[in-house]
Amino acid sequence: MTAKSMMPYVEGNSAIRAMFEEGARMAAEFGAENVFDFSLGNPSVPAPPEVDDAIRSILAEEDTLLVHGYNKSNSGYEDVRQTVAEHLNMLHGTSFSSKNIIMTVGAASGLNVAIKALVDPGEEILAFAPYFVEYGNYAKNHGAQLRAVPADTNTFQPNLEVMEQMITEKTRAIIINSPNNPTGVVYSDETIRRLAQILKAKQEELGTEIYIISDEPYRELAYDGVNVPYVTKYYDNTVVGYSWSKSLSLPGERIGYLVFPSELADFENAIQAANIANRVLGYVNAPTLIQRVVARCIDCKVNVAAYDRNRQNLYDGLVDAGYECVYPEGAFYLFVKSPIDDDVEFCARAKAHNILVVPGKSFACPGYVRIAYCVSHETIMNSIPAFAELMKEIKEENKE
Ligand code: PLP
Repeated sequence: MTAKSMMPYVEGNSAIRAMFEEGARMAAEFGAENVFDFSLGNPSVPAPPEVDDAIRSILAEEDTLLVHGYNKSNSGYEDVRQTVAEHLNMLHGTSFSSKNIIMTVGAASGLNVAIKALVDPGEEILAFAPYFVEYGNYAKNHGAQLRAVPADTNTFQPNLEVMEQMITEKTRAIIINSPNNPTGVVYSDETIRRLAQILKAKQEELGTEIYIISDEPYRELAYDGVNVPYVTKYYDNTVVGYSWSKSLSLPGERIGYLVFPSELADFENAIQAANIANRVLGYVNAPTLIQRVVARCIDCKVNVAAYDRNRQNLYDGLVDAGYECVYPEGAFYLFVKSPIDDDVEFCARAKAHNILVVPGKSFACPGYVRIAYCVSHETIMNSIPAFAELMKEIKEENKE
């Protein structure tokens, strides 16, 4: 018998995955160039050539037993962690060393390790809607409960006043994600400053620790020179989760890291707990060859300009066609107001125009749809008339 606890997942399956499969089916039926599949956040820009070069050089130059072996520490190679720490110090003026860094199996495992290390069963984690659907599952994995702070749909900046009211002595962590999936919004300096102020006051009032878990797989995908605040500089009890899935287009390689700053409450135990969590959750250590690769490619980035061009052309095309959308400053998503009340129905209607988008309901924010614009530029340009046709159809119905 399959575990009962898994059956809701089996039955529900992720809307995003289901849509992905539908996209593949439609591409086979209509031809890939006639299907506008915006359903999945899978990078469309190749990894920089330095990545493959690094793989070749490592295999040629380094000890194969070490490169493919278990790490001595579950936190990863000491020299790789030191490289990451120094890179962060150079970028953000922080003072991390290898002891603050744990290499992880992407951001997904990093979040699970952080929650396991910091949150006890029965405690609560807050997340600002709309949020990445897996957060709820990750909280549940560790017996914690995720509570959604309702969205401020005017700006999609975190709704801090409501968050403040939702904090209780059970609240152990707040997950934030900027640049944001699904809105593309970057949380401003003012937002992070205010968030830190509120949490400091709440920690004092309640006599508890409240951690920020800052999920940052899109940090490098930020446009127009926008500043993405480094949260450890605002609030001591911050853990940062990073990933190279998007910044180097390596989602299948499963590589990222966690930062546990020395200022974190009970730091020595917390970092040990995270190291052990990496092991007991079954990740053991981040893939060793790829750890060495990212260390060699620490200064590399994918061609962010390609995403930027998609962002601008699609945003302009949709706004011209009458759609409403907050202007995205990062990541590769647009979060568009559904022109009909029911976002799930809108997605079904879009499918009839060969457009695949994901309902906001999947991100705890109904009434909106997510468009992942990590697709070819040709797909962006070809999709705009289809979006315009769909809007025209809806407007004509509304007139009747
Ligand atoms: N967090 C957010 C907001 C994401 O969008 C994703 C993936 O799309 C992840 C975490 C997981 O990323 P990774 O591939 O690094 O596990």
